[in-house]
Amino acid sequence: MAEQFDVVVIGAGPGGYTAAIRAAQLGFATACIDDWSRADGKPAPGGTCTNVGCIPSKALLQSSENFEHAGHSFADHGIKVDGLAIDVPRMLARKERVVAQNNDGILYLFKKNKIAFFHGIGSFAGKEGDAWKLSCKMSVAGAKAAELVARNVIVATGSKPRPLPGVAFDNVRVLDNEGALAIQGVPKRLGVVGAGVIGLEMGSVWRRLGAEVTVLEALPAFLGVVDSAIAKEALKLFTKQGLAIQTGVKITDVKVGKQDVGVVYTDAAGKTQNATYDRLIVSIGRIPYTGALEAGKVGLKLDERGFVEVDGECRTNLPHVWAIGDVVRGPMLAHKAEEEAVAVAERIAGQHGHVDFNTVPWVIYTAPEIAWVGQNEQQLKVDGVDYRAGSFPFMANGRARAMGDTSGFVKILADRKTDRILGVHIIGPYASELISEGVVAMEFGASSEDLARICHAHPSLSEATKEAALAVDGRTLNL
Ligand SMILES: Cc1cc2nc3c(=O)[nH]c(=O)nc-3n(C[C@H](O)[C@H](O)[C@H](O)COP(=O)(O)OP(=O)(O)OC[C@H]3O[C@@H](n4cnc5c(N)ncnc54)[C@H](O)[C@@H]3O)c2cc1C
Repeated sequence: MAEQFDVVVIGAGPGGYTAAIRAAQLGFATACIDDWSRADGKPAPGGTCTNVGCIPSKALLQSSENFEHAGHSFADHGIKVDGLAIDVPRMLARKERVVAQNNDGILYLFKKNKIAFFHGIGSFAGKEGDAWKLSCKMSVAGAKAAELVARNVIVATGSKPRPLPGVAFDNVRVLDNEGALAIQGVPKRLGVVGAGVIGLEMGSVWRRLGAEVTVLEALPAFLGVVDSAIAKEALKLFTKQGLAIQTGVKITDVKVGKQDVGVVYTDAAGKTQNATYDRLIVSIGRIPYTGALEAGKVGLKLDERGFVEVDGECRTNLPHVWAIGDVVRGPMLAHKAEEEAVAVAERIAGQHGHVDFNTVPWVIYTAPEIAWVGQNEQQLKVDGVDYRAGSFPFMANGRARAMGDTSGFVKILADRKTDRILGVHIIGPYASELISEGVVAMEFGASSEDLARICHAHPSLSEATKEAALAVDGRTLNL
């Protein structure tokens, strides 16, 4: 006998589990199906983000940053460290504990919100009247498949890493994000293909721990999606740190050996280069994952790139079937998935769920961090928008000096006529936290004068944001 639900969510990544919680809060009988397992076979809800994405990468970034501080900046504080060494297995074990805490936290939230959790692969099986029939092939060996009937289905099946054409991930020599987060010892020579968010974060982790890291990027410009002044500063700082970054590269051959990987490429000048790495991380983007859904069985429409096709409100072509997160258009970010999740659950309840795609913040968790919201200067120029820009360096910020972390700056772009903030761009310490002020300001339609008039705590990094807002009107106080 099939179990009946108002809402069934397929996938328990940040999109799926958040959708399930909000649906349950709204009073719906809710189930969530997810197939991710821990090494011991137990469920590991949280998707890419929790298991092999946001959370473990930030755990390793923190460990490696601590190591770098102990080796380089502690001495300046008068702290002596003798016999500094990195214990990679212990660092990885800590990362695994952090991941497990998050998996357990989600299981607790399912229980608290009375969400039925099915550990297995969910797929469409057909229709029963107006409702959808779903089947869940359980992950527990020998367990009978569960049959579910749902009035509403939310597809949140996420994404998978994109391989280099003809070069499969083996996670021994050629690593995807999962492999990059689990290298058992510091490689001497690490190649990274793709200078996007994941490539730079993973390259930074292993560079800090002692690897010689080369980043090969196909596009001619470094961090082309980032405000060009921020990208220029980032390239300067990362190069100084020891990341060898090459742009305009075309990879022509990859030979995977037992001990190393050979990469042949043409560089920006068109010269053929031969490089050998102990490991090669490939981070050239991610592709939507709908593999096990049986979308064709019910006619769920995918677009030409394999994303589930949705309208601006995450409705698919099928009635009462919605899709959110990485499996649909838009930025592949956990918080974008979460916002869509809440909005969809509220729409199912007849409410007016809303996501403002113009104020989705982006963060790169390198050191210094990079964060932005809204439009950058290149985009404003292309759009012919008349704007004013104001910047303020962390070098002139008291808190940054006290911390010994003065690289980078805050930059604010505002409409010349109305002064409405159009973009906030930060490279510097805790940019990931500071950007929230920019998001709030933009969400409330604030002007740069509004930000400049708000009292900011002293000494704090956020004073740099206030000063950048003052700079839009040419009246910084501390520069
Ligand atoms: C290394 C790395 C670092 C990242 N860092 C950040 C960051 O700092 N900040 C940020 O915002 N984003 C980050 N991301 C991106 C972020 O992880 C994704 O945007 C986010 O996980 C998308 O959430 P989702 O719910 O759409 O899908 P996912 O998290 O991919 O979850 C989908 C889930 O559905 C399951 N599933 C798929 N098909 C089925 C099926 N048929 N039946 C049952 N289960 C199924 C999958 O196994 C998975 O558990 C990072 C990604 C990577 C790889």
